[in-house]
Amino acid sequence: MSVDVVIAGAGPNGLMLACELSLAGVRPVVLERLPGRTEENRANGLVGQVVRMLDRRGLYGRLSDSKEPPRPGPSFVFGALPLDLSTLDDNPLYGLPVPQRRVEQVLEERAIELGVEIRRGHELTGLSQDDDAVTADIAGPTGSYRLRTRYLVGADGGRSLTRKLSGIGFPGVTTDNMVSRTAHATVPAAMIDPVTGGLNLPGYGAIPPFMHHRTERGLFVFAPFPSRPTVVSATEWDPAEAEGDDRPPLTLDELRESVRRVLGADLPLGPPEGQGPHLLRRLTGGNTRLADRFRDRRVLLVGDAAHVHSAIGGPGLNLGLQDTVNLGWKLAAEIRGWAPPGLLDSYETERRPVAQRVVMHTRAQAALIAPGGEVTALRELFTELLHDRRNVQHIADMMAGADIRYDMGAGDAHPLAGRWAPDLLPDTGTGPVRLAELTRDARPLLLDLTEDASLTEELSGWRDRVDVVAARSPDPAAPATALLLRPDCYIAWASSSPRPDPHEREVLRTALTRWFGAAG
Ligand SMILES: Cc1cc2nc3c(=O)[nH]c(=O)nc-3n(C[C@H](O)[C@H](O)[C@H](O)COP(=O)(O)OP(=O)(O)OC[C@H]3O[C@@H](n4cnc5c(N)ncnc54)[C@H](O)[C@@H]3O)c2cc1C
Repeated sequence: MSVDVVIAGAGPNGLMLACELSLAGVRPVVLERLPGRTEENRANGLVGQVVRMLDRRGLYGRLSDSKEPPRPGPSFVFGALPLDLSTLDDNPLYGLPVPQRRVEQVLEERAIELGVEIRRGHELTGLSQDDDAVTADIAGPTGSYRLRTRYLVGADGGRSLTRKLSGIGFPGVTTDNMVSRTAHATVPAAMIDPVTGGLNLPGYGAIPPFMHHRTERGLFVFAPFPSRPTVVSATEWDPAEAEGDDRPPLTLDELRESVRRVLGADLPLGPPEGQGPHLLRRLTGGNTRLADRFRDRRVLLVGDAAHVHSAIGGPGLNLGLQDTVNLGWKLAAEIRGWAPPGLLDSYETERRPVAQRVVMHTRAQAALIAPGGEVTALRELFTELLHDRRNVQHIADMMAGADIRYDMGAGDAHPLAGRWAPDLLPDTGTGPVRLAELTRDARPLLLDLTEDASLTEELSGWRDRVDVVAARSPDPAAPATALLLRPDCYIAWASSSPRPDPHEREVLRTALTRWFGAAG
């Protein structure tokens, strides 16, 4: 049997990639070794540019149960230091406090709607490549079989077999000097501050909610989510605790002892309310690793298969889901035969540096939460620096991934080129429309807001691949009069002229060729 794409792994990144490929006209087969969706509690939410990306695919509403567009939050944390985002001109830290299980459920439903075949209980066990295809060995519920596929994508998590079998190195560091204990729990109502929702802990003092709280002995988090169980977490640096994987499962008493050591005060913990499964997790040490390549001929890696790092600040899904949105249309273009040379390789060129940056800032945050007098001094300095809102903007942009600027070659002249498309409100004749309404199909798009909407004629050789929307801009201060958007919503070309001149039109055609292939 032969297929165009096999995706190994139906975690969030495998499922999102499957949706992106389907939107671009390619039906992948997704292999998942587990027989059903996992009940494991991992991410408590999504943060950063990914929230806007999901909005641009019509998935934000499903996840938030709201008809309102996403909005950035007023505050966040970097290395357990508070970030006041309320004064920023352009706050990029959008948040969606939805557990990973729900994200996976919504992505699976969407993938099935789009006709994706998900084979649960089917494990990738081997692979080999020749010039034309990858042969995947699979262990299924009724026995082993082989699939020939033009491309295979490893979305099979941090221990990715795809990566190992492809000989792709995964250099980095593994630490074992830290123990993190996290559980769903209740705390005495009398200790909850009615104004902040945080804790007033006798013998310690006020602890704001949802903030990493560092002491000289560790890190504490109190997260009273509105409609799901409260999360309590304590992290300690204690090599003795890190030994041995065969300890009994975490108990609330063990967590309470750890909280006592971190805060120096007693926080009684009761069993969680509401429906389970409930979280009781002890994690020892951690890995920070980055694949040395994201591609080996016909095999590609996305998400945790390509990079693992500390979960501090919740950057994992922001990074991984945007890998998939970067890769999906490029891989589909390759399969459908219109990809210009080098398009598929640009996945690694664009996304590996982004992952490197996440590795950098999660390691920097790990340094800022560690115990020790020098760290305390460093934090004092950082606190001073964070009084300058330009520094807050810099850190917020980095955490959100809003500082990404991809290389757009000849199209780079405009300040928006290579950037994430801003939330314009073009008027298509029936009133203002959010850009997010125009990008749901994940197609390349020329948004023509020029005076005479004459850019459409430049597209004549690309109309099969590129959509065009001619509209008026109700905002005279809009940052552009025309935008060429790649399906991942990054700007391949832009103009600010009411009537772009012949040179700008020439650059537009160059950008169309570079990203969407030769004119037909
Ligand atoms: C404790 C913790 C807290 C976190 N908190 C956050 C957070 O708040 N925010 C955030 O954004 N991120 C967070 N993350 C990171 C986030 O959970 C990961 O980045 C995310 O799960 C990666 O998704 P993935 O699809 O790449 O891999 P995974 O979720 O690991 O999925 C891989 C899938 O592949 C399957 N598989 C593996 N091998 C095979 C095979 N050989 N054949 C077939 N199937 C296979 C697995 O069963 C699994 O279903 C957290 C992670 C942890 C561990």
